[in-house]
Amino acid sequence: YEAKIRKTGCRLFNSGIRDTFQRKLVLENELRWAIDKGQLRLHYQPQVNAITGRMEGMEALLRWKHPTLGEVSPGEFIPIAEETGSILDIGKWVLAEACGQLSRWQIEGRTVPSVAVNLSARQFRAPDLVSSIQELLRRMPCAPEQLVIEITESSSMDDIEEVLPILRKFKALGFQIAIDDFGKGYSALGYMKQFPIDILKIDRSFVRELTSDAKSAVLTKTIIDMAHGLDLRVIAEGVETAEQLESLRAMNCDIVQGFMIDPPMPSDRLESRYLTGEQPLWPSKPIG
Ligand code: C2E
Ligand code: MG
Ligand code: MG
Ligand code: MG
Repeated sequence: YEAKIRKTGCRLFNSGIRDTFQRKLVLENELRWAIDKGQLRLHYQPQVNAITGRMEGMEALLRWKHPTLGEVSPGEFIPIAEETGSILDIGKWVLAEACGQLSRWQIEGRTVPSVAVNLSARQFRAPDLVSSIQELLRRMPCAPEQLVIEITESSSMDDIEEVLPILRKFKALGFQIAIDDFGKGYSALGYMKQFPIDILKIDRSFVRELTSDAKSAVLTKTIIDMAHGLDLRVIAEGVETAEQLESLRAMNCDIVQGFMIDPPMPSDRLESRYLTGEQPLWPSKPIG
């Protein structure tokens, strides 16, 4: 009996692995056509001033809708795209789309503070990254100051010698640079001295425990103070509750981003909520 159960369990386990493996293969393959078939879109999530609630920027987040697989989350497909290298083309598409959107808004006379784009480590190391961005800017009327490059701590800090010249070129071109997911994984603070960073984004894991865990609160406050000491602006990601917002304001956090303010949304929705007429203060859920 026991042997039978073990056998069945084993089969289930194996089929689980096989399904995971098969899904990965399918995603890998389907991703190659996602751009040409028009399955990718960008959503935009507002980043608002912690005190006034006015939008100070937005983050572009990639969405993939497959006709039979449905919505696949970037958490699932970005790592696969990084592995296979299709992130290089996808990343270029993202940059072109974001700059295109910025340019359209500019032509329409709408005031858009900035759009942040996530760059993966693989993309960052591509030799043609800087030249392809320069080419984009030549073709489009958007200003480089409006583009924020988000890189994660782990992707950027691996090899200072390699990364520093690229960041310097970005700065020379006029982009702003943000460190994403700060505090997640390992943190080597040494780079903060050398890298030309403008913005520090506190990882969601700190914000999530801000009001329930005293240590998370101390760490968050410390990160904010350190960032200010280095003349950086601080964005807290994943703000979901009014209590978290209240506590971040008390800690002098500059900018907040999260479901409590607004989720990522299509450009037309962001346009009607934030870029038409007077900008509302605390658009979704007024506080205080
Ligand atoms: P990220 O850059 O740290 O982006 C923030 C993620 O947090 C987004 O997930 C966003 O939808 C989610 N988020 C925002 N507010 C809240 C909140 O209040 N609570 C919770 N629980 N989550 C919130 P998303 O869109 O699923 O993206 C996941 C990750 O995929 C991103 O993390 C980023 O690392 C990567 N990614 C997304 N778009 C791109 C892209 O165009 N290129 C690259 N290389 N990576 C991307
Ligand atoms: Mg990001
Ligand atoms: Mg992040
Ligand atoms: Mg992330």
